Amino acid sequence: MSDYRLNTKCVQAGYTPSNGEPRQIPIIQSTTFKYDTSEDMGKLFDLEASGYFYTRLQNPTNDYVAAKIAALEGGTAGMLTSSGQAANFYSLFNICECGSHIVSSSSIYGGTFNLISVTMKKMGIDVTFVAPDASEEELNAAFRENTRAVFGETIANPALTVLDIETYAKAAHAHGVPLIIDNTFPTPVNCRPIEWGADIVTHSTTKYMDGHGAAVGGAIVDSGKFDWMAHADLFPGLTTPDDSYHGITYAEKFGKEGAFITKATAQIMRDLGSIQSPQNAFLLNLGLESLHVRMPRHVENGQAVAEFLEGHDKVESVNYPGLKSNKYYSVAQKYLGGGGCGVVSFVLKGGRPAAESFMKRLKLAAIETHVADARTCCLNPATSTHRQMTEEQLNAAGIPAGMVRMSCGLEDKADLIDDLKQALEF
Ligand SMILES: *Cc1c(COP(=O)(O)O)cnc(C)c1O
Repeated sequence: MSDYRLNTKCVQAGYTPSNGEPRQIPIIQSTTFKYDTSEDMGKLFDLEASGYFYTRLQNPTNDYVAAKIAALEGGTAGMLTSSGQAANFYSLFNICECGSHIVSSSSIYGGTFNLISVTMKKMGIDVTFVAPDASEEELNAAFRENTRAVFGETIANPALTVLDIETYAKAAHAHGVPLIIDNTFPTPVNCRPIEWGADIVTHSTTKYMDGHGAAVGGAIVDSGKFDWMAHADLFPGLTTPDDSYHGITYAEKFGKEGAFITKATAQIMRDLGSIQSPQNAFLLNLGLESLHVRMPRHVENGQAVAEFLEGHDKVESVNYPGLKSNKYYSVAQKYLGGGGCGVVSFVLKGGRPAAESFMKRLKLAAIETHVADARTCCLNPATSTHRQMTEEQLNAAGIPAGMVRMSCGLEDKADLIDDLKQALEF
């Protein structure tokens, strides 16, 4: 399968049925697995043989789908998690512990920002935030001797900033630590961060990968390129024996290609248990089978809507990386080959009252907090997700009261523009 092109991998990677086996991925709806002897099962617990014993750690349906996502990203191993939040937490906590420090882009999803700056801080893990377009010098200045990972989002949700992945990767590697990239918005169809130097890639599969608003989920992919043993003193969890696993040293036993995901499964999934249900993995795979067909339409609709809004006299500003006027246009061309996703944000002239009237008039676009769905949806943060904030706080956070975030779905772009036209007649 590795020789096939991305479009083919979306449809067929991860699962190849043998003679007479089901064509579609089987949903193994079983918490447990049966063995003939205790010795057989003992080998699984010792990680001497691969196989399944309990769905809190691993399930065949999940593994088929994780293998597809790993193939799409160009990685060597992958795993599914119950949510994107779990994927980002596991990817960081797999190499960080109390006393560690993370360098992260400041322009990231709000849930991840809280995870890193509040919850992980309570665990004794510190963070320094830097701008997504930070220079090499600014990045280098953020590192400490206890830095263990660098984190960023290819296209940030919802700020739509585009990360300079190569610059981030260079700084991470100069300090002997991996770069973890959340690639949720572009998906591997529009960007494969590993090709630009990222070591670990994460996803909220809840978004475009599922694409139909059906199942919450996450994924982690390892590039298999980071040499843990070359920086053994920084990553003792991977390079010294794990007492909770009969003294296995993951980086020795599973090499660069397998150590990260094996540890995250055998240790972190075992202890924290944020597994994706096999049923959700099946739904996710249905989404993946058409990801390469859907993403270009999301981008086409996003670009058309952004261009329309930019020319409208009731619109103060439009933020979409595919617009020539956008600060990240050239970075987006380099890494995404265009706008990269279907999410556009814009600010209406007239502030809060204008946004309220506009939202009330929408007919086709639904009001939702979700993004990256087949159906177009809009959100006015000031009256929903950020309604506890004052006008001054909203402006300081770069979310003025008149801002609307629009996630362009797969409908006809002419209908989306007609809906905007009539909604703007407030
Ligand atoms: C939604 C989202 C997450 C969190 O994912 P959940 O599946 O909602 O837990 C993480 N990162 C990005 C970029 C997201 O858009």
